[in-house]
Amino acid sequence: MRLVIHAVFKGEIVLKKIGIIGAGIIGTALAYHLTKHDDADVVVFEKNQIGSGTTAKSAGTLCLIDDSLPYEFFEQRVTCLNTYKKMNEDTHNESEFVQSGTLVVSPTEDEMKRAKMHVEASQKAGFNAEFIEDPEGLVKYLPDLTPEGLLGGAWTPDDGYNNPTAASLIYARWAREQGAKFITHANVNEILTKDGAVSGIKSSKGDYDFDLVVCAAGPWSNKVGALVGLDLPLVHTKAEVFILKTDEPLDYEFPILKYPHWYARSEGRAVFVCKSHMAMDYGKAIETGVWDPDELSLSGGTEEYFFDFLTERLAESVPKLLDAQLVNDWLGYRSVTTDKLPIVGESDVEGFLVATGMSGNGVILAPDTGRILTNYIMKDEGDPLLDSFNPSRFK
Ligand SMILES: Cc1cc2nc3c(=O)[nH]c(=O)nc-3n(C[C@H](O)[C@H](O)[C@H](O)COP(=O)(O)OP(=O)(O)OC[C@H]3O[C@@H](n4cnc5c(N)ncnc54)[C@H](O)[C@@H]3O)c2cc1C
Repeated sequence: MRLVIHAVFKGEIVLKKIGIIGAGIIGTALAYHLTKHDDADVVVFEKNQIGSGTTAKSAGTLCLIDDSLPYEFFEQRVTCLNTYKKMNEDTHNESEFVQSGTLVVSPTEDEMKRAKMHVEASQKAGFNAEFIEDPEGLVKYLPDLTPEGLLGGAWTPDDGYNNPTAASLIYARWAREQGAKFITHANVNEILTKDGAVSGIKSSKGDYDFDLVVCAAGPWSNKVGALVGLDLPLVHTKAEVFILKTDEPLDYEFPILKYPHWYARSEGRAVFVCKSHMAMDYGKAIETGVWDPDELSLSGGTEEYFFDFLTERLAESVPKLLDAQLVNDWLGYRSVTTDKLPIVGESDVEGFLVATGMSGNGVILAPDTGRILTNYIMKDEGDPLLDSFNPSRFK
């Protein structure tokens, strides 16, 4: 399907009028990449505040090694880490990157193999990375870790986490400087079509004509897709976060700790723990479903089921945290497809594109998603990543 562009002239330039629904990390990164092109006329609609959706609930981990993405997407990890590190430097720490390093433990032979492959790839990409064969050696990086039962682990000291809402605000500012318009507290409630193709949107802050509309609405994408009659292949999984604080401050920096089914990182003086998205069971109604993200509150909403799962894991791995107090918790929905990879590209409705279903990787994938979708929209250019994320794979 070719992207239909109506001629709107600004001086000598024919403009492409593009509307983006959602100003999370995906919508803002896309707006930034699109507005590098003089012929892109971009308006972003956000029904709340910039970066206030799933992006605000994220751990923001930017790890060189974990099980969240298959090995074939290692390059996306490198792009993401380099992009956000540079963003943080260029903005004098505005995106609050914390170089905590990541300790990825290997309880099985398969995990060890995967970690070693990533260590090698990280070294080749110019990062510091090592595989520690002796489990006792892992304690150097996390003194309260129980090494029994582990086969070893990988240590990547150059990575860490950032504040994804701050990163969204920076992308939005850079996009505005390049000409994008952001309309916040503007709910898109209708998508207009003419002869079967998208022609504009109706929002609570007015109606707009567009050549193309991109859905970057995170877990709201099911609702946004329905506005054009699409049943997008997306469900939600629950991301339940528990913030634990020990009575006495830990006398070391808690790194990002990645187990195959859960992870932890520092959260100020406390520790953030969450069940990983790869561990979510699509057959269990408590873990996977389609829920209304408008019902989510800023904090609370977590369930005993997830807390019990995590405390059992902590008992085996970092028992000291069992004595900590639960000082905060929240629930977010990850928008996921069955293969846990996103959908990015054209939909079955002409002029309606999607950049959603980011699962547990939206922060990692935002820089490359913005780049590849922009190249497709503005230059009709393909990309192997775009092929992997093509929505048509679910037909
Ligand atoms: C607990 C947790 C931990 C995570 N940890 C990581 C991590 O470590 N690393 C990582 O890469 N990813 C992580 N993720 C995943 C990541 O946060 C998401 O993939 C990412 O934030 C999705 O961004 P988005 O822009 O697609 O969606 P969102 O941030 O949800 O943005 C969508 C926006 O669309 C707006 N919107 C919706 N409907 C409309 C409408 N009709 N009109 C106007 N606006 C609308 C919403 O208000 C919202 O702001 C985590 C997620 C959770 C919940």
